[in-house]
Amino acid sequence: MRKPIIAANWKMHKTLREAENFAAQFPAEQDLYQQVDVVICPPFTALQVVGEALRGTGLKLGAQNLYPRDQGAFTGEISPLMLKDLGCSYVILGHSERRQILQEDNKFINEKIKSALKHGLTPILCVGETLKERKEGQTETICGNQLLGCLADLEKEDVSKLVIAYEPIWAIGTGVNASPEDAEKTIAFIRDFLAWQYGLETAEQIRIQYGGSVKPDNIKELMKQKNIDGVLVGGASLEVESFFSIVQGAV
Ligand code: 13P
Repeated sequence: MRKPIIAANWKMHKTLREAENFAAQFPAEQDLYQQVDVVICPPFTALQVVGEALRGTGLKLGAQNLYPRDQGAFTGEISPLMLKDLGCSYVILGHSERRQILQEDNKFINEKIKSALKHGLTPILCVGETLKERKEGQTETICGNQLLGCLADLEKEDVSKLVIAYEPIWAIGTGVNASPEDAEKTIAFIRDFLAWQYGLETAEQIRIQYGGSVKPDNIKELMKQKNIDGVLVGGASLEVESFFSIVQGAV
């Protein structure tokens, strides 16, 4: 049985005060957080205050990116050591916004995954297709190629530690989620692909999330799907009430 995992990707939202308020108000339901991993990924600037507020609650802290070196002359970048120091246990990598806006490619994301794993951070690796690619019937090819590139040279022991998030780009921030059946179809493909590459046992261990316009009113149907182990939430993770109701809907 895979433990469900619900992650909040705040993207470039929240001042320190807003982040601190969210963390202070989020219900401290220890028992619930034994049943479902809940990860909050604030912007770098709020990692410390949110991390302090979450200590002892069972909620986990994640970052939205890292630079794949321990330290050095990399102006403006943040290393995995720094994230560990702040109490992060997860890091989102390969998000489509970074792929599209910052031109990150699979090779660079692969370096980031290796760097995260080296420091004991669990990568949440995002994959997904554009609307054009979907219409052209390319969804599986795109996701397969992203996985091949991002996971290059990794041993199955490492791959088994990852969380993968299937985020169709056309569903992100649009209010239009993939139907639970469509999400399940692609996520089942991703699991089959992992089984083909790393064996059935490894594929069965890997938690795969869906992301893209997840809301309190669609979480239950998404979580009913056999291969969907959780969700990665953008907009609806910014309010305590909506994110908590998504967490409750996951169990
Ligand atoms: P929305 O939930 O706002 O669609 O964002 C999804 C996402 O990109 C999470 O990483």
